Amino acid sequence: MVTADERLNEILTVLRRGAKRVTAAKRVVATVLLEADRHLTAEELSILALRRQPDISSSTIYRILEEFESLGIVVHAHLGQGAAVFHLAGSEHAHLTCDECGATLEVAAHHFDALGRELYSSYGFTLNRHHVAISGTCDSCREITQKTLPNS
Ligand SMILES: [Zn+2]
Ligand SMILES: [Zn+2]
Ligand SMILES: [Zn+2]
Repeated sequence: MVTADERLNEILTVLRRGAKRVTAAKRVVATVLLEADRHLTAEELSILALRRQPDISSSTIYRILEEFESLGIVVHAHLGQGAAVFHLAGSEHAHLTCDECGATLEVAAHHFDALGRELYSSYGFTLNRHHVAISGTCDSCREITQKTLPNS
C-alpha cells in the first residue's frame, strides 16, 4: 500500500519536475487533497487548508489549485448546479447527479467506453468521462416518483 507520505512526496516530485517551487502552502493543499474522502469545492478546500495553516490567503489557494491542475496533479469536475469540485487526478471515474435530491454517484469510467468509441468513430469526438456529470434521477428518487404516480 502507498502511504499518505509517499503520495505527498509523489506530488512534490511532480512540482519539482515542473520547475515549480515547493512551498508550505502547497504542502498543505496537497495534504488536504490527500485526506479528502470526497470531492471538494475550492471554497471547502480553502477552509480546510486554513485550519491547518491560518496565514494562507484564499487567493493563494486558488492559484495553487490552478498550478496543480496545469501539472496534472488535480482535476476538477462539475456536479449539478454547484461550484466546480476538485480532487487528485488518477482515479478513473464518471459522475452521475440526481436532479431531484442532488446526490452524486461515482461510477467506473468503463461504463462509457462503448459510447466513447461510438462518438469517436462517428464524429472524431473524444469523450471526457470525468469533467461534467451526467444528470438524471437516482434510484431512491425514482421509487418515490413512481409511488406518487397514479396507476403504477
Ligand atoms: Zn470545467
Ligand atoms: Zn470525480
Ligand atoms: Zn435522488
